[in-house]
Amino acid sequence: MKIAVASGKGGTGKSTVAANLALALSRDHPVTLADCDVEEPNQHLFFPGDPQTEQVYSSVPEIDTEVCNYCGKCGEFCQYGALAVLKDRVLFFPELCHSCGGCMHICPLYAIDEKDRSIGTLSVSKPHHNLRLVWGTLNAGEVLSGKVIGAVKEETDGDSCVILDSAPGTSCPVVAALDGCDVCILVTESTPFGLHDLELAVSLAGILNIPSGVVINRSDGSDEQVRSFCREKEIPVLMTIPFDRGIAAKQGRGILFSAGDPEWQEKFRTLGLECMKLAEWSL
Ligand code: SF4
Ligand code: SF4
Repeated sequence: MKIAVASGKGGTGKSTVAANLALALSRDHPVTLADCDVEEPNQHLFFPGDPQTEQVYSSVPEIDTEVCNYCGKCGEFCQYGALAVLKDRVLFFPELCHSCGGCMHICPLYAIDEKDRSIGTLSVSKPHHNLRLVWGTLNAGEVLSGKVIGAVKEETDGDSCVILDSAPGTSCPVVAALDGCDVCILVTESTPFGLHDLELAVSLAGILNIPSGVVINRSDGSDEQVRSFCREKEIPVLMTIPFDRGIAAKQGRGILFSAGDPEWQEKFRTLGLECMKLAEWSL
């Protein structure tokens, strides 16, 4: 089963929910926690370890200057502005290249070949015997986050229980993370901005046809607007985490608040079971 944890905006506590859920479920079953927030992965801070890391590559064009006659066709073709053909040179801007391969096919002289270029890394660690942590890190200035997210997801293929921590928002990297998941937990706060962003996230899960439930984080008890929205959309509120100085203090020190707290561990275990029900899944 693949459980995505997402949020319409940053700072809602999405990563904390994903980490606590992974910790609770891994007491009984092998769990993989996949950090798909590749521009800012942070799950490895909750679960320090000794990762194995490899490069993630994308294919970029390599131009044979002995063959090229600077006709300009590749530059005209590239919609991303990654190629500029001058009268005696072809300029290539690798950060703009989306690895579509089109320039290779368009070149009448077959002067373009492919070469690998590192765009990020894939890391895997084993914080404890039942928990595997997989995360991707996009290199600074790179745009192909989807490729690194794809590498993270591929690494989890075949694992029985995967919790995917997506990037915040509703942009392409979030779609890349959520695609193919069985269920989605949407983490929100009970503020007007929180509700607006939750509405967007609910729409995205709906478009992707993924059943979803809501976790209200840092609740001060005035959640009626969020609850009323969830009732209207027939989306269950799966858990409410109160605003609590003790929880905030633990998180400030990088400690998962459910660690060593059997009551919260049980609540996160129940959250996992609720997700299975939503996805009509059993381990
Ligand atoms: S299309 Fe081929 S020949 Fe023309 S400028 Fe590009 S690489 Fe050179
Ligand atoms: S592979 Fe695609 S994006 Fe990259 S330079 Fe060629 S045409 Fe442009």
